[in-house]
Amino acid sequence: MTKTISRTGIIGLILYSAIVGAQPAPSSTTIFDGLKITLCGTSSPLPAPGRAQACVAVETPDHLYIVDAGSGSAATAQLSGTPLEKMRGILLTHYHSDHISDIGDFNLNSWVASRPAPLQIIGPEGVDRIVEGLNITYELDRGYRVAHHGAELLNPELGILQSRTIGEGVIVDEDGLRITAFKVSHPPIEPAFGYRLDYGGRSVVISGDSLVTDKIVEISDGADVVLHDAMALQLVQGAEAMSRGAGNTRLATVLHDIQDYHATTADLARLTAEAAIGQLALYHLVPAPRNAMAIAAFNGGLPDGALITEDGMMISLPANSKEITVD
Ligand SMILES: [Zn+2]
Ligand SMILES: [Zn+2]
Repeated sequence: MTKTISRTGIIGLILYSAIVGAQPAPSSTTIFDGLKITLCGTSSPLPAPGRAQACVAVETPDHLYIVDAGSGSAATAQLSGTPLEKMRGILLTHYHSDHISDIGDFNLNSWVASRPAPLQIIGPEGVDRIVEGLNITYELDRGYRVAHHGAELLNPELGILQSRTIGEGVIVDEDGLRITAFKVSHPPIEPAFGYRLDYGGRSVVISGDSLVTDKIVEISDGADVVLHDAMALQLVQGAEAMSRGAGNTRLATVLHDIQDYHATTADLARLTAEAAIGQLALYHLVPAPRNAMAIAAFNGGLPDGALITEDGMMISLPANSKEITVD
């Protein structure tokens, strides 16, 4: 029998998509088994049109974890159809503002989407202070939402963030998903972490903000996908010189200071030379390129095949295979 959708059905679907930012959830027979990675933010603090700040969503059939939640990333995740009702936690790499500013929006959006347990905010020492402050900041908002929609729709307890302070090593091992935290180099921040997620024989490493270190090389060896912080040093140095020449010494100083704590495109060549990686993909782009010409300029020295990511890009790793699909 041919399936038809009525005009009101189509309008309803369009409205639904406009409001929740996604198509209706797929039936259980179409659930993807593997690791699905969505880029919900690919920019650094330097603003870039069409790009939110650092955010990577990693999904399995049973889990959704977000690694960092920079400005604009909660909207990008929702518009990309990320299933927020499955969200278990946000893994924070460190507490620079471009990694934490959308935690409140992720909490609200997943609470409304029927997340069944409080959202865990997971990170190195200091995460309890971030969470305590956010719970106070959003206390009035939570009260308004519950008063308006009712405690049956929005269980008040599920709107309160929970913190979890972690050290290096395996921090999650549940339902086939293993998450490993490892130290990275992003001075003067101590400690700053990256994360490796393993599920169904597939793996993704997410560097957070870091130089290329021996530890990253070691933990990336054999990984299917490595998402790494990347800075086009030649562009940042050029911008520094132009700022200095124009008399803007404040901006020139900032552009100078950021040059020693992000991986340069040349450093990333070492990573692919020393570690066997299925796909190197770059995010937290400094500066984030706006068009093809800017991508070509960013590219200087990058290893062959490195992927410069964009917001909304999805990388799928089907369980127990070698396949890597980029959409
Ligand atoms: Zn940082
Ligand atoms: Zn950053």
